[in-house]
Amino acid sequence: MTNDNTRPRILIIYTGGTIGMIENPETKVLKPFDFSHLIDNVPKIKMLNYDIDNMQFDPPIDSSNMSLNHWSQMARAIEDNYDNYDGFVILHGTDTMAYTASALSFMLENLNKPVIITGSQLPIGEVRTDGEENLITALQVAAKRNSRGEAMVREVAILFENHLIRGNRSSKISADNFNAFMSNNYPDLARVGLDITFNEDALLRNTSNRPLMVHDAMDPNVMFIVLHPGMTRATLEHLLSTPGIKGVVLKTYGAGNSPSEPWFTEPIQAAIERGIVILNVTQCVNGAVNSSLYDTGNTLAKAGVISGHDITSEAAITKMMYLFGNGMSNRQVEKYLQRDICGEITTRHTHD
Ligand code: ASP
Repeated sequence: MTNDNTRPRILIIYTGGTIGMIENPETKVLKPFDFSHLIDNVPKIKMLNYDIDNMQFDPPIDSSNMSLNHWSQMARAIEDNYDNYDGFVILHGTDTMAYTASALSFMLENLNKPVIITGSQLPIGEVRTDGEENLITALQVAAKRNSRGEAMVREVAILFENHLIRGNRSSKISADNFNAFMSNNYPDLARVGLDITFNEDALLRNTSNRPLMVHDAMDPNVMFIVLHPGMTRATLEHLLSTPGIKGVVLKTYGAGNSPSEPWFTEPIQAAIERGIVILNVTQCVNGAVNSSLYDTGNTLAKAGVISGHDITSEAAITKMMYLFGNGMSNRQVEKYLQRDICGEITTRHTHD
C-alpha cells in the first residue's frame, strides 16, 4: 500500500456506458466509444496528481448488454491488479450499474480496497455533462485515506452526483436526473457537495486479514416473479416451471405480503417442495419484509418462503446467483440469504 508521501495509484476499468458514448452523426443514436476519447475530454484529471492507468472492455458496451462473463472480467481485472493499485474506478453504464455493484460486492470476498463505480447521464463530450465531475470525484474517493493512512473506502460503492452509496444497497431511481442512484435502506457512505464528507460509521470494515478471493461462478438459473393484482394461477405455474430454475426472487407487496388464496399459495408450496428456493422481497423502494405483520405475509413464511429483510432486488438476485454459483445446497442458500454477507441487509429485523 502507498504511504502518505507517494502518489495514489488508481486503475480505471472502462466498460462502456453513456459516459464514453458518442452520437452517430447520421442516426443521432448514442453508441459506446473508445477510452481515449473519454479521457481526452477530462483534461482536469492531470490536476489530481495521481498515477492513473486504464484498461477497457473491447468493445466497450451499453450496460444493457451486461453479462455474467463481463462481471467475471471486471472481478478478474481487479484480482490481477490488486497489489499494484490503491483503488479501482469502474466506468459503467447506468442501466445495470446497481446489478454490477451488487454482484461485485459478493464476488470480491475479503475486499480491502476501494472499488468505485460511476458513469453519467450525459456523454462526456456534451457541454453540460455530469461525466467529468463524476469521474473526478470517483477518483478522489478511490484515493482517499483516513487519518491512519488506510484506504477510507474498502468496499464496492457507487459514486453518482451528490451521493457515495454502498454498491449492494443501490438502485437506479431516475432515467434523467443527475442524481440517478439512491440507497433507500442504508445511509450514504459520503455526501458530495463543496466537500466530500464521509460517514465513517457507515463504511464497511473487513476485519479479516485474508487475501482477496474472487468467486466468479455466478449461477444464472434464478429469476424475478413480480406480483400484481390480476395475476393468474396459469401464469404463476408457468413461471415457476421454468426449466432449470433454482431460485426465485418474489417481488411482493408492502411489508412482504401476497395473496392468501389457493391459486397463489398452492403453486408456491409445490415449487418449494420441488426444491426451488423462494426469497420474499418487497416491491417498495424503501422498507423491509416483515412476515409477521399481516396474515398475507405469514402465509408465505409458513410455506417456506425466505424473508429478504430490507435487501434490494438487485442485491437479492445477484446474491442468489453467487450462492448457487458456489455450489451450495438449498439449505445453505436459505441460510446465507438470511445472513448479512457484505452489508447488503440489516439483520436487526429479527422478527421475521
Ligand atoms: N444505456 C446506457 C448504459 O447503461 C445508459 C447510461 O449509461 O446512462 O450503458
